[in-house]
Order: sequence, then structure tokens, then C-alpha cells
Amino acid sequence: MILTVTLNPSVDISYTIPDLRLDTTNRTDQVGKTAGGKGINVTRVIHDLNKAVTATGFIGGHLGGGIVSELNKNGIKTDFLSIEGETRNCIAILHDGQQTEVLESGPTITDYENAAFLTHFKQAVGYADVITISGSLPKGLEEDYYVKLIQIANNLDKKTVLDTSKSNLSNVLENSFKPTVIKPNIEELSDLLGQTVSSNPADLKAVLADELFSGIEWIVVSLGGDGAFAKHNNRFYKVNIPTISVVNPVGSGDATVAGIAVALEDNLDDIQLLKQAMTTGMLNTMESITGHIDINHFDDLFNRVTIIEY
Ligand code: ADP
Repeated sequence: MILTVTLNPSVDISYTIPDLRLDTTNRTDQVGKTAGGKGINVTRVIHDLNKAVTATGFIGGHLGGGIVSELNKNGIKTDFLSIEGETRNCIAILHDGQQTEVLESGPTITDYENAAFLTHFKQAVGYADVITISGSLPKGLEEDYYVKLIQIANNLDKKTVLDTSKSNLSNVLENSFKPTVIKPNIEELSDLLGQTVSSNPADLKAVLADELFSGIEWIVVSLGGDGAFAKHNNRFYKVNIPTISVVNPVGSGDATVAGIAVALEDNLDDIQLLKQAMTTGMLNTMESITGHIDINHFDDLFNRVTIIEY
């Protein structure tokens, strides 16, 4: 079983308002509401791959209850810790060919809830083979909270895939408890290193050899339509993908994480893992729903991914 961690999930609302007007009332009947947050997208894609998955994290109030029932209704198991605060809404208004977003920061986790989740997580990890940890931290948690989660998983000898950015990622890299996999995109990698990193394979190879990444088994730098560049221990790979028609690229990185997690659980070799990671990312771009794939196209895309050891 794969355990996915989403510490600050959301109800993602989309309003389509073609001619949005300011300082007056706008009405719409084109409303979309779905469970969101990077880890929730990972969860859905693992489920689409027909693999057992359980979603955990903090959940609160009426909106949180809605997320749990939506996941359960779709046959996805949940094991969230209930909190006093209310799970957030994230609103996207689609207008004039543009997208304006209002993102609530979400509830503040109390000290009691902070400690309770560590116990809760330890129990859940016991039943998992692989753990994915995605997104940013809610207010009230220390910046090194992900380090604590990784330490718990490492102590139980479980594999972890971490997909986060900025201080949440740098904190983990500077610590001695390392995840099995990180999956930065090129902007997140540049941000982390404080320098613009090009997608040129030779540059990426030099950058990933940096001491900062030592102790992390897999680093998969996703490059959008250009595929990925990856390091597994001392081996480096450039992964090339076919040109496909993209419908909605949002959540592709999360789908990639799902593909990696399933590959780790199935003990796939390097080439198979990378092909699967790219295939799930590409499949996500072909769907309008964020964090969803149609497995019927899996084999066709998988066979068109090519890998060069670098
Ligand atoms: P993130 O969503 O984290 O920024 P990326 O944009 O790098 O991640 O996308 C992750 C993966 O999804 C890519 O490695 C690729 O397999 C697939 N993907 C993303 N954008 C495209 C695209 N435009 N065309 C084809 N595949 C894509």
C-alpha cells in the first residue's frame, strides 16, 4: 500500500465567468468543486493505476468532511487526523482567457495536533510500503516538520518520495534524514540553488553531483514537455518524451510522483521507473481534470519514452 501525505488539503473551486467585472456582483452557473492539494492529486493517480492507496494529513470541519467523502465515494481509503480548524477553499476564476486565483492559507495546526499527527503517521507508515509527501506545510508546524516525517519512515525502513519546494525542501536536504526520491521541477531546482539552472543535460549532471544532494537515492528533475533528467545513486539519465497534445498540464508533477511511488513499490528497475514516471505525467496533461489519468493510453506512451544514460 502507498500512503500519501497532504498536510494542507483544499476544496478547489473553479468559477467560469467569461466577463468578470470588479466592484459589482458576478453570477455563474459554471462551478467545479473537487478535492485538491498536491498530495490528493497523487492519491487519485495512484488509484487510477489500480494500486492500493491511503490518503493521510490534517482534515477539519465541514469542507474537510466533503473531501473525505469524495475520496471514499471513489473507492479511495483515507486516514486523516481530524483537527479543530477548517480545511481551506482555493478558488480559481476563469475569465477573459485568464485565471485569477484566491488561495486561502488554511487552518493553523495546534501544538496538540502537531504532536498527535506524528503518532498517527507512525502507525499509518507501519502498514505502508512507500510514502509520498507533497506540498507546503500548514501554519503552526515547524519548518522541519517534513524532516520528522522522513525520520519516522526511515526508522521503519520505508521508502519516501518528497515533492516540496523552498524552505521545506532545503530543510530536508540540510538534515541527516533523507527521502528516497525528490522530484523538483527546473524552477524549484533553480530556487533551491539560488541560481538559474538550464535544462541542458551536462549542466544538470554537474548540478546534481553537488554535495547538497548526497544521501538521496533518486533525484528526478522534471522538465515539462522536455521530459526529465534523473540521477539514481551514481547513474545519470536524460529521459525524452514524445510530443503530445496537452489539455491541462496542472498536476503533471503530482502524476509523475504517483508513477514513481508505484514503481518503487513494484521494485521496477531504473529504466522502467523513469518511463512510468513520464507516462503518468504525460497522461495527466491529456485530461481536463487535474490529478487524473486514463490508464488505457498507458502502454502506448510508455513505449514511446526513450532514455539515454548520460
Ligand atoms: P510540475 O507539474 O511539478 O511542474 P512538470 O511540468 O515538469 O512538473 O511535469 C511533470 C511531467 O509531466 C513531465 O516530466 C512530463 O512527463 C509531463 N509533462 C508536463 N508537461 C508536459 C507537456 N507539455 N508535454 C508532455 N508532457 C508533459
